[in-house]
Amino acid sequence: MKKLLIATGNQDKVAEIKEKYRDLKFEIVSPGELNLDFAVEETGSTLEENALLKARAGAEKSGLLTLADDTGLAVDALDGRPGVYSARFAGPDASYQDNNLHLLKLLEDIPAEKRQAAFCTVAALVDPEKNLEVTVEGRLEGRILTDLRGEQGFGYDPIFYLPERGKTLAELSLEEKNAISHRARALEKMKSKLQEFYHQTG
Ligand code: IMP
Repeated sequence: MKKLLIATGNQDKVAEIKEKYRDLKFEIVSPGELNLDFAVEETGSTLEENALLKARAGAEKSGLLTLADDTGLAVDALDGRPGVYSARFAGPDASYQDNNLHLLKLLEDIPAEKRQAAFCTVAALVDPEKNLEVTVEGRLEGRILTDLRGEQGFGYDPIFYLPERGKTLAELSLEEKNAISHRARALEKMKSKLQEFYHQTG
């Protein structure tokens, strides 16, 4: 069976992808399973560049078909920031809590109707044999609250409100979040590409 490397050190992402792609005829592997030392500096200025940097690095080191992703939160009132800098918005060693509080502070004077934001995930696929590079994007629209709500999820989930659900992402179960998230949408689009390029019909 053809191997598909997921170029991430995050085991939760690997588990999510294994579950989503379980009907595809790929053996999904993580860098750890191949004893690959996987650390890439995310020096790109866009999510797409960073996703491609990670996928190319994985493909070069392993020789395998490789998938990577990069996610950012774009806040309208901040002209799309933090975007590619979402992980380190409040500083180089910022915790999720630090980033959330930093964002709430910056939006202190912004009224509810101007607090729109979107999560965006870019997934990149690199096939070193076919010389193929593909990227797809998944988005989730919402609004930034004025305080934190909910215990589930991670990152900006407690302040990211979904008006149609009346809940933050941190108030959804993992299954509910994974059914609608930016990352899930990007992974679904990439699944179609994988089926198209490798004729896998499930
Ligand atoms: P990464 O590209 O998946 O590593 O994500 C970069 C940063 O975006 C993370 O450190 C989080 O701060 C934020 N982030 C990514 N995905 C999510 C999510 O699903 N919910 C909330 N925050 C997220």
